[in-house]
Amino acid sequence: MLNKKSVDDINVKGQKVLVRCDFNVPLIDGKITDENRLVAALPTIKKLVADGGKIILCSHLGKPKGQPLPELSLAPVAVRLSELLGQEVKFAADDNVVGPNAKAAVDAMQDGDIVLLENTRYRAEETKNGEEFSKDLASLCDVFVNDAFGTAHRAHCSNVGVTKYVDTAVVGYLMQKEIDFLGNAVNNPKRPFVAILGGAKVSSKISVIENLLDKVDTLIIGGGMSYTFSKAQGGKVGNSLLEEDYCDYASKMLDKAKEKGVKLLLPIDNVVADDFSNDAHIQVVGRGDIPDGWQGLDIGPETAKSYAEAVKTAKTVVWNGPMGCFEMPNFAAGTEEVAKALSETDAVTIIGGGDSAAAVNQLGYGDKMTHISTGGGASLEFLEGKELPGVAAANDK
Ligand code: AMP
Repeated sequence: MLNKKSVDDINVKGQKVLVRCDFNVPLIDGKITDENRLVAALPTIKKLVADGGKIILCSHLGKPKGQPLPELSLAPVAVRLSELLGQEVKFAADDNVVGPNAKAAVDAMQDGDIVLLENTRYRAEETKNGEEFSKDLASLCDVFVNDAFGTAHRAHCSNVGVTKYVDTAVVGYLMQKEIDFLGNAVNNPKRPFVAILGGAKVSSKISVIENLLDKVDTLIIGGGMSYTFSKAQGGKVGNSLLEEDYCDYASKMLDKAKEKGVKLLLPIDNVVADDFSNDAHIQVVGRGDIPDGWQGLDIGPETAKSYAEAVKTAKTVVWNGPMGCFEMPNFAAGTEEVAKALSETDAVTIIGGGDSAAAVNQLGYGDKMTHISTGGGASLEFLEGKELPGVAAANDK
């Protein structure tokens, strides 16, 4: 059980608090085109302001690779955050992130004030977890709060290095929610516990499959990765996505599931196409029956029905990876059926970040899920059972 100190365990009145946020928002010509990440950061910031702390926000934005690139400045974020919070967020423009300008801005702060530092990746040491930048960041504050889950699987200065030089390091509300669901609910689930895995490749989900097979009652497999399993069982997969090198691994996982008494569900039918295109000819064929020249691009209707059925009686469901090429409308039905089933079940529903989160939101079921992770890579590593450096660095309760 992960039991980390959170912002609710501290009162920061009069203290300088450095908050690592995830303000890695899409920008076009200096305009923020999706502000979800800013909105998501507000509860933690408001709590710390209400305490009467001096709030110093920091984040990375894109990949400036250690250069002060003006197009990746966080300046537009300060403007929008000020509007969202209804109070000034002073932008500490500083190519060195923690240089004279940033220090002066922090020195001038009153209780309840907010300052935003420049893009942490303007400094080359950031992604190398370098000591000097970690110390620079720590020199600004008394308390550190990590609320950036998207980078929790990386050890960088602004989420891990800095904690070495600050006595109090806690998690914010966003991080706490990710720990509660992806960490604790997955490790201590209400049963039946069903995991649904999809997406392109078996090879990128090996550790997830292995870790979840030790925990779940039912493992459902869909998407491109299902054809490697089908091939391993002697099926014909035509031109479908196939990782020949992983057929043995797939066989082993099928055996492991049997040994553990885990129900492993594979597609019983597939929507196949004669081209990787939304305009291709389409037909539905049974398991292991994909004709030469055709490729599976979605689970079939019978499969979707059976997967939806399995979700109905579950108490916990974790989903990572779409059931087909949902980006093309003709191959989105399987993913949509599963998303709908999750929106209707009483189970705790946890959606891994990245493509699954995008699919659920795009299909309009986002607000019906218990938790949608904000981190693609980080959520996958959580599901692999790994310790995330950004989580580990926070103080235990
Ligand atoms: P991942 O990042 O591994 O979760 O993979 C997500 C991607 O897998 C999405 O872009 C889907 O379009 C793709 N995908 C899902 N099913 C298939 C399939 N049957 N064939 C090819 N690509 C697929």
